[in-house]
Amino acid sequence: TPQHLGFIGLGAMGHPMVSNLARNLPHGSLIHVHDVNEAAMAALQTSFPNTIIPCNNARDVASKSATILTMLPEGHHVKSVYLDPTAGIIAALSPTSTHLLIDSSTIDTATSLAVKHSLSSLSPSTTFYDAPVSGGVLGARNGTVAFFLGCAPSDPNLPLLTSLLTAMGSSAIPCGGPSLGLAAKLANNYLSAIITIATSEAMDMGMRAGIDARVLASVFKAGTAQNTICDVFNPVPGVCPEAPSSRGYEGGFRVQLMRKDVTLAMDMARRVGSRNVLGAAGLGVYAAASESEDCKGRDSRVVYRYLGGVEE
Ligand code: NAD
Repeated sequence: TPQHLGFIGLGAMGHPMVSNLARNLPHGSLIHVHDVNEAAMAALQTSFPNTIIPCNNARDVASKSATILTMLPEGHHVKSVYLDPTAGIIAALSPTSTHLLIDSSTIDTATSLAVKHSLSSLSPSTTFYDAPVSGGVLGARNGTVAFFLGCAPSDPNLPLLTSLLTAMGSSAIPCGGPSLGLAAKLANNYLSAIITIATSEAMDMGMRAGIDARVLASVFKAGTAQNTICDVFNPVPGVCPEAPSSRGYEGGFRVQLMRKDVTLAMDMARRVGSRNVLGAAGLGVYAAASESEDCKGRDSRVVYRYLGGVEE
């Protein structure tokens, strides 16, 4: 049967995610969308004129659809989209609403829990889940992203959530309870951020010693250093022809977003009492690269360039 969904935040990730929903939902389904950038709404409506309905604000989306996904940059955007008393989702809720709300933004766990609490205080039967996503813009386009869900494996909404999320991605992993999808995502991006720097340093060291970059990458692939950054997103230009590094670090995952995620991960580490020795050094690298003229706005693997890595 056709569905009525809402989707708010149509950026680098949101646009391809909505496109996959529009392709995969049953015929006759409608997706009510909102973005502060009107051009982003217009572009989607042109591609899917029978499915996409632009809305003026989040409240309008919530008054027309009981299931809503959000894909926004940072915690303060999420807070205003959900909780703004006049234009937010909460403005369309009543004590008897039964909305299903899913936030896929990468934000701090405290903001996510606060939003969930404010919504359920007003509307006890409305449910809110954190469901951040991994796999990048290419994964969003190809429908292969993974969702990390802030719920228990026994959550009664899990089958519904899974069927919705797998219309945009390949898997949805329940991580235990509210905000734990975000905790898992931050741990994942912390690891990925550190691996990126370590791969950059090891590639540069081997190349300076005289090893060909492609040979070195094949050595890491065969050895214990095997990792996805080396194999698929190698930071050295020319090693992976499809990677952002091979087109001047254009596209991909912006270095500023990686800085944000490592900052959030380090805050979480402090809160839970985890010692993250490499994180402090890594955060310094991402922060400086985010502000360097040669690197800002580019794919996060540009830290190879920031660290002075040799290019062929
Ligand atoms: P983006 O900046 O490209 O898109 C965000 C969109 O939200 C923009 O279109 C913007 O206009 C819109 N927006 C901002 N404030 C709004 C508001 N108040 N109301 C309505 N719309 C608003 O960001 P992105 O790359 O799509 O990332 C979104 C989130 O997903 C971030 O938290 C990011 O860390 C995370 N993420 C990104 C990637 C990636 O590879 N880009 C991968 C995984 C997760």
